[in-house]
Amino acid sequence: MNSDLIVVAGAGGFIGGHLVGCLLKDGARVRAVDKKPLGDWWQRHPGVENQVLDLQDLKSCRTALAGATEVFNLAADMGGMGFIENNKALCMLSVLINTHLVMAAREHGVKRFFYASSACVYAADKQRTHSLAGLKEDDAYPAMPEDGYGWEKLFSERMCRHFHEDFGLTTRVARFHNVYGPNGTWTGGREKAPAAICRKVAQAKLSGEHDIEIWGDGHQTRSFMYIDDCTDGVRRIMDSDITEPLNLGSDEGVSINQLVDIVENIAGVKLNRRYKLDAPKGVNGRNSDNGKIKQLLGWAPSIRLRDGLEKTYAWIHDQIVTKAPCPIY
Ligand code: NAD
Repeated sequence: MNSDLIVVAGAGGFIGGHLVGCLLKDGARVRAVDKKPLGDWWQRHPGVENQVLDLQDLKSCRTALAGATEVFNLAADMGGMGFIENNKALCMLSVLINTHLVMAAREHGVKRFFYASSACVYAADKQRTHSLAGLKEDDAYPAMPEDGYGWEKLFSERMCRHFHEDFGLTTRVARFHNVYGPNGTWTGGREKAPAAICRKVAQAKLSGEHDIEIWGDGHQTRSFMYIDDCTDGVRRIMDSDITEPLNLGSDEGVSINQLVDIVENIAGVKLNRRYKLDAPKGVNGRNSDNGKIKQLLGWAPSIRLRDGLEKTYAWIHDQIVTKAPCPIY
């Protein structure tokens, strides 16, 4: 066991829970922190020091980071479009988490700090069409990110940049493009499109009511990154010498209709589609340009959407059949 201590903030959540598992496999000493009660964490790993703390509070951040060598900040009050379009103030309050974490990291002499940003930082005028052309890192400026959630992410990215430039804190930033996989929110209002569609298709199949509601007209495009690519990329970016924000996403762009096609195919059903045109649907088109990450790291996410969705669908189907709870935070 390595004596360096790695802190994962947001470890009770989807990506944080998986990241803790990967770090442990490599023999790391890990402290996992989240504000949710332990019983509601998606994953609890043996051999980890778990702390339940609200990281919007500076004192809690000091406690969480005591003795830490590296910090991964994956804590945020967030969800899919249905959540972020209706909870802009709550999303913006996550600024307190990253601000207080970088302050505590500086005080404790943390060696490396990772911040989970989002493709929601990209400027709205670059995402007006259904084009599958990827967004390049420079497309974040001039700034016009997703209102609320995206502004918080862009501001926190710059907080990391200036803590690096002014105070010498080593910071790394990845802009995640829609991450999906097992052990994450799949119902209740905070779920994202892949989980919502897997759930709706599984429920239709199980109930025999072959009908599905789709938000928007289904022509909006996105890319979706399987969780294993995400955790792999996070660790590569953390271990790199790249301070500027990097896209971390799949570049296999699909429309929401195509995403439904794939899940129907996995489930072996064909459903009647009803389009809810006034539902929150986000920008018309978004994909990841992976030129920079390939150039700088010689790597990019590569797990095929169909392969990742097969595992995700099987897990969500299982949650429904076993009536498993889905904690909502
Ligand atoms: P998640 O909601 O599953 O996990 C976030 C965790 O943060 C939750 O367990 C929550 O309880 C915790 N948290 C919230 N406020 C906290 C606080 N004040 N103190 C301590 N813990 C707190 O989300 P996720 O999908 O795992 O996302 C992780 C990070 O990646 C977030 O920063 C998110 O914005 C970012 N991100 C995710 C995606 C995606 O598709 N999942 C896309 C872009 C960016």
